[in-house]
Amino acid sequence: MHSKILRRVTKAGSGSASALRWLVCLVVGIVPAGFAVRAQPFQLPTANRALFEKGGEEKFFVGTTGKGWETGTFGCVRNDGWKMHEGLDIRCLQRDKHGEPTDPVMATADGKVAYINKRPSLSNYGNYIVLKHQVEGLEIYSLYAHLHEVREGLKAGQSVKAGEEIAVMGRTANTHEGISKERAHVHFELNLLVNDRFGAWYKKTFPDQRNDHGDWNGQNLLGLDPRQILLAEHKDGAKFSLLNFIQHQTELCRVIVRKTDFQWLKRYGALVGANPKAKKEGIAGYEMALNFNGVPFELIPRASSEIKGKAKFQLLSVNEAEYHKNPGRRLVSEHGGRWDLARNGSELLELLTY
Ligand SMILES: [Zn+2]
Repeated sequence: MHSKILRRVTKAGSGSASALRWLVCLVVGIVPAGFAVRAQPFQLPTANRALFEKGGEEKFFVGTTGKGWETGTFGCVRNDGWKMHEGLDIRCLQRDKHGEPTDPVMATADGKVAYINKRPSLSNYGNYIVLKHQVEGLEIYSLYAHLHEVREGLKAGQSVKAGEEIAVMGRTANTHEGISKERAHVHFELNLLVNDRFGAWYKKTFPDQRNDHGDWNGQNLLGLDPRQILLAEHKDGAKFSLLNFIQHQTELCRVIVRKTDFQWLKRYGALVGANPKAKKEGIAGYEMALNFNGVPFELIPRASSEIKGKAKFQLLSVNEAEYHKNPGRRLVSEHGGRWDLARNGSELLELLTY
């Protein structure tokens, strides 16, 4: 671990002086802030660092109107668990004389601009930016929403560095109720991409509906919990592994898909396990474990002899405790003691394997 950090620091700093500074820090047991940040794959997107303070939640998260800070965290935190919030609502620290938020919003990691929406009336995200990152061979997409303005000249395809300013916090959204000055925040997500043929799938599935943002529709991005990731990184430093974090999600259900060629297998190949039987007999489908938000975090190739039914998608099992804890995505449903894939679950599998 130390050699890895030392190498990074030496590269970033001014050679031996920087290495010496690191050695001094090691001896006295202090890690200067810049060093700790470099060892992490993701950084906080604003200067608000209260997430790392004991009892700092009130200062970090903005809840929905009249509700506690928990409603500004990731998960099934709204409408008694039945509504999912797929990001963190991070409180503003700076305001102008009119009380409007002015916090700079920074890239969470090195990456490339994937998408910018500057037409706030077309999204409940308002003005938003999506960045693409490669972390441990995984494509991760960070999203920053409700922005006041995007940095001038920032365009899709451009590279950005971790910590680089990309926007100014705001409170744009196309929702009827809007976002009050008091609740000003950046909505921050860390996502996996379901399918880059989303546009075609959406047109086929919902022919009467508009899709203003191509692949960069919230439905095509499966969120991970940024709070858990940031806290784990803060605690574990360079030992933190995003791959390991994803592989240890709690299972909501297990499904079989009778498809053998879909993008997720390549884009997130590190999540695909081995099965000698399927390798020998030929792969007829994949068994997948999904977390409560629908993230397929474990995929096992299956031979035809290992798959019972004929259906394209089959539900194998449901972790009922997890369902009762986090039902908001409504991926599965129970009728008279029998569990089935709900419409949202089937729709996700359709998109995933399209
Ligand atoms: Zn939000």
